[in-house]
Amino acid sequence: MPEGFETESRKLLMRLRDVMASGEAGQARLDEIVRLIASSMRADVCSIYLFRDAETLELCATEGLKQEAVHQTRMRLGEGLVGRVAKKRRVINTADAPSARGFRYMPETGEEKFSSFCGIPVQRVGETMGVLVVQSRASIEFTADEVYALEVVAMVLAEMNELGAFTGEGAALRARHQEPVMFRATVGQEGATGGNVYLHEPRVVVTNVVADDPEAELARLREAVDTLRLSVDEMLTQTATVNKDQKQVLEAYRMFANSRGWMRRMEADIGQGLSAEAAVEKEQSLARTRLEQADSYLRDRLHDLDDLSNRLLRILTGQGSTTGAEMPENPVLVARNIGPGELLEYGKTLKGIVLEEGSVGSHAAIVARAWAIPLVIRANGITAEALNGDPILVDGEQGIVHLRPDDTVKAAFRDKIAMLADAQARYASIIDLPAQAQCGTVIGLQMNAGLMADLPSLESSGAEGVGLFRTELQFLIRSQMPKRAELSALYARVIDAAKGKRVAFRTLDIGSDKVLTYMKPNDEPNPAMGWRAIRVGLEKPGVLRMQLQALIRAANGRPLTVMFPFVAQLDEFRAARAEFDKAMERERILGHPLPQSVEIGAMLETPSLAYAPDVFFQEVDFVSIGGNDLKQFFFAADRENERVRRRYDTLNVSFLTFLEQLIARCQALNTPVSFCGEDAGRPIEAVVFAALGLRNLSMRPASIGPVKHLLRRLNLVEVKAVIDQARERGDQSVRGAVSAYLREQV
Ligand code: PEP
Ligand code: MG
Repeated sequence: MPEGFETESRKLLMRLRDVMASGEAGQARLDEIVRLIASSMRADVCSIYLFRDAETLELCATEGLKQEAVHQTRMRLGEGLVGRVAKKRRVINTADAPSARGFRYMPETGEEKFSSFCGIPVQRVGETMGVLVVQSRASIEFTADEVYALEVVAMVLAEMNELGAFTGEGAALRARHQEPVMFRATVGQEGATGGNVYLHEPRVVVTNVVADDPEAELARLREAVDTLRLSVDEMLTQTATVNKDQKQVLEAYRMFANSRGWMRRMEADIGQGLSAEAAVEKEQSLARTRLEQADSYLRDRLHDLDDLSNRLLRILTGQGSTTGAEMPENPVLVARNIGPGELLEYGKTLKGIVLEEGSVGSHAAIVARAWAIPLVIRANGITAEALNGDPILVDGEQGIVHLRPDDTVKAAFRDKIAMLADAQARYASIIDLPAQAQCGTVIGLQMNAGLMADLPSLESSGAEGVGLFRTELQFLIRSQMPKRAELSALYARVIDAAKGKRVAFRTLDIGSDKVLTYMKPNDEPNPAMGWRAIRVGLEKPGVLRMQLQALIRAANGRPLTVMFPFVAQLDEFRAARAEFDKAMERERILGHPLPQSVEIGAMLETPSLAYAPDVFFQEVDFVSIGGNDLKQFFFAADRENERVRRRYDTLNVSFLTFLEQLIARCQALNTPVSFCGEDAGRPIEAVVFAALGLRNLSMRPASIGPVKHLLRRLNLVEVKAVIDQARERGDQSVRGAVSAYLREQV
């Protein structure tokens, strides 16, 4: 880059910084900035467009277009060249704008005179705030150096905007991070809650964007990168023995941390006048844009780079991560995504959870549901918009989130919370009554659990027992493998708390999205269909044996129920049962008391098991349908992939007919069968399952009230007739017919 050019662009940044430091109002600042850029770039026009709302860009300042157009000219995202720059988050640089794709003529600006156009997205770490445009009469393309300099300027504008430099008197712009924002997203767990934002990964705020002394900034950057490299090396030596996956990620970190390309780009940004942290952010921002368009391998690598940039920013600014940041009162966790282990670490103190990504079928969602914490997923853009401590209302019934709500919304929300509390009171009033339908059929309602914190719900929900105790949650919350004595004490406490009610302990179900950091991970292309659950237990039986022993000791002469997850064929059940029998024999030899009675079941989570030989159904003491996994394999639709998961309704007649045949088979062979997937806790689904012949359902505790309430008001024989009619009619799903019937009845 020519020396003079670099000096020139540095001078421009210094001037921009002076504008920033001035006490002027937002609009005056913007006017001054476009004037400075136009003269520095020797362009005929410089304009700044900023988002008025999520879909609309507004011309906020211009030098060279008609002043009357300011705050009047607007375009939608994707509309015209400016809208396209914002939508694609890419530079458009053309010598002949009027014939460029997407050009829109805006008479009020007088822009037809200008031939060349260069639009640069104004963005900050993946969030687009507007567009910076320069135009010239002459038909010339702006040079690569000029575009680069404009990108640096755009970065400064983004930071200034972030810091609120363009708001205030005279500026018709929304104040960033101050106005109410509503997110329409997806329900993960019902309920309504209000509280304050607690960011899983708080944003780093960069206050010094422009720096006078590039040498000093370069030295700061190099020092920070050295610290970063050291910390990555340190993490690598610490985890070397533990986890191959983590190691791979860290190796990728190391590669980036030592990457000359990354370093060179940041050094060049500093040469243009940016501070070290602004340079890091600029490159991070560009990487994010690329990330969204990359294939999944590259996306992972760019994710690594993103993470590394965050670490570097923390080193440079001294701003910490969430660990250490104070949790506000009534914390509502806001995160891009979260794994079940991390969520468990936060504990039940959270009032609500809002995720930008996430999926309903994930185990993090299951944990949130077990805790009955309202969860909203796929709240697009919330991590960029929310600041730690912001007031937030989570409507888990509608999948809506109100960030920084105004008074009207707050009042409406209070009503909603009161209404939900009324419903709770209704459920509490039937807590001791059976789930007996109008036709006289009684359905056993059990609860799913996995944490000690779930146990009080056994009483408060009216559950008749624990139909699924997910033992892996205890493994997920630890940083090392629990010891046998520890597990045995824990299981004993669970059995104690159940006060004679049946608890079905499911042996360790790891793999898929449940990853133990302290176990050697398995590098496989499709973990949900890979080495997981009982497959791990049988091939590496050490942990399974230890767990079975712990369970037998915990029972200490009381009845014991154990079930094996993800059994796909007869021999897996037989092998697992043989492990149990061996464990019993060992305990007998050791002279420990054996359980008073034993029930050994299998979870039916793959369609194959429904067609196992009759002897399977005769040998097993019970079958528990794990509908979450079963459904994903039945429809070949990943339970964690929101895009495909929603295509297939649980009440699809194919799935129901499959269930019905399975239930009939169990009845014919006298095998008790229950259903413990998430669908059992959804009232309409529960009613349909009961009508098809399931007599035991296990669900999250908070669902027991609503399911019981509905069951008690219905005649299951009639529901079955509605299902059959829908099937005969050729409906794809019985949901429509059953919902219509329920509306009439209740
Ligand atoms: C299931 O698959 O339905 C089940 C209960 O197990 P998990 O959700 O823990 O995989
Ligand atoms: Mg499962």
